[in-house]
Amino acid sequence: MNKIAIVGFGGAGYNAAKEARSVDPEAIIDVYSDTNIGPYNPMLTTYYVKGAIPYEALFPFGPLEEIAKELNLHFHGNQPVTGLEPSEKALIFADGSRKQYDNILISTGASAVMPPIPGLDLPGVFKMRTAADAVALKKMLEAGKVGSCLVIGASWVGIKVVEDMVAYRVPCTLVDGAKWMFYVAAFEKTAKRAQQDLEAKGVPVYCEQMLDHIEREENGQLTAVMQNGRRFSADTVAVCIGVRMNVGFLKGSGIEMNRGVLVDKTMRTNYEGIYAAGDCCEALDIQSGTHRNIGVWFNANKQGQVAGANMAGRHMEFDANVLVNLAHYLDYDFISIGDISACKPEDEVYEYEDHKYYIRAVKNSEGIKCINMIGSAGSNGVVKNAFIKAIESKHAGLDIKTICFLREKGFPDSFIDYLGGTSID
Ligand SMILES: Cc1cc2nc3c(=O)[nH]c(=O)nc-3n(C[C@H](O)[C@H](O)[C@H](O)COP(=O)(O)OP(=O)(O)OC[C@H]3O[C@@H](n4cnc5c(N)ncnc54)[C@H](O)[C@@H]3O)c2cc1C
Repeated sequence: MNKIAIVGFGGAGYNAAKEARSVDPEAIIDVYSDTNIGPYNPMLTTYYVKGAIPYEALFPFGPLEEIAKELNLHFHGNQPVTGLEPSEKALIFADGSRKQYDNILISTGASAVMPPIPGLDLPGVFKMRTAADAVALKKMLEAGKVGSCLVIGASWVGIKVVEDMVAYRVPCTLVDGAKWMFYVAAFEKTAKRAQQDLEAKGVPVYCEQMLDHIEREENGQLTAVMQNGRRFSADTVAVCIGVRMNVGFLKGSGIEMNRGVLVDKTMRTNYEGIYAAGDCCEALDIQSGTHRNIGVWFNANKQGQVAGANMAGRHMEFDANVLVNLAHYLDYDFISIGDISACKPEDEVYEYEDHKYYIRAVKNSEGIKCINMIGSAGSNGVVKNAFIKAIESKHAGLDIKTICFLREKGFPDSFIDYLGGTSID
């Protein structure tokens, strides 16, 4: 009988268990989690904070007890895995005990980075990643304990915290150490436009502000002191400066890692029978041909499913990994598809703007490198698939369904042509 262990029970872990169970009804499936709550969607946490969804909606797969029953799995809550011995396929626990399996999935996700900067441990300084973080923030906001907020990190998570503050009418300021917002994914021009649009909604943005430390003032407020000496004061400070993959427990195990665990298209690591999926792994990025962590909900779910199938004995591959970053906030949306770091000053720039869209993209003789879009929510998936198709085959072109969809959504012919389509009348 196939003995399967799943370490970490988020979107990746859940989909692995579901797929493994559907392939092998007899398999023994043990799930280990460092919490005692069921799999939830972290991207919904800020929607819960602002009251757009109830707490239960964080759990898209249903209550833990029902999941465990339906999938016939053994859930070991509050039991973090502290080590792994790949040659024995053994999990190691805090008390030193070990347990062997035929197949192991590492799906431990990522955590918010809280670097050892003085003052980050002061009351009123918070992060946003887990359901517990969301519950704590919501409690604070509902109790009226937040008169103002400084959000450090003008990127995917920080912008969602800004949205929560606006929903509670809490004045807030956004700062970032980088030259512009969404720095790892936005062209300067796109970012400057997003900044202007955000400031028009009443949220001041200051870039090139690198945090030195946070101190408590006599009046009780927190002051974030920047390396350039500038000071920003508020009742609370949200630290949203990135994530770290939860792979520390694999150090010295022999499992190949960069920032995350390296996997092939089947989500297998360098050891037979050991897989990784979701935010903790780096899968093959078809644009660069190298391993990349692309921590998005779709990838976590799909990669989990692929790993689950392979662990249970059915071959499956995850193949279309490209960089995608999206932010949906305050009735505004920004998406970046592709690798901005691959763009060179001499590359050809495409730019389009009308009342609905702002699009900026870069290509060279090898093809499209990166697309930034504002206002394209609802079409992102279709544009992403067109981008992937263009990378897989430069001359593939767009199918008629995609062309019609893009036209219907009001994209200009010039952009449809740019993606490889042919305009139709
Ligand atoms: C605020 C926010 C906004 C986001 N917005 C978007 C968005 O707009 N679009 C999008 O696609 N994605 C978004 N994401 C990212 C998306 O939520 C993640 O990519 C996805 O949920 C990752 O799933 P996962 O299963 O890999 O990891 P997780 O959901 O993090 O699950 C991993 C689990 O493993 C547990 N664990 C860790 N270490 C151990 C251990 N040693 N032993 C046992 N258990 C362990 C953790 O506690 C956790 O429960 C957002 C995330 C956040 C936080």
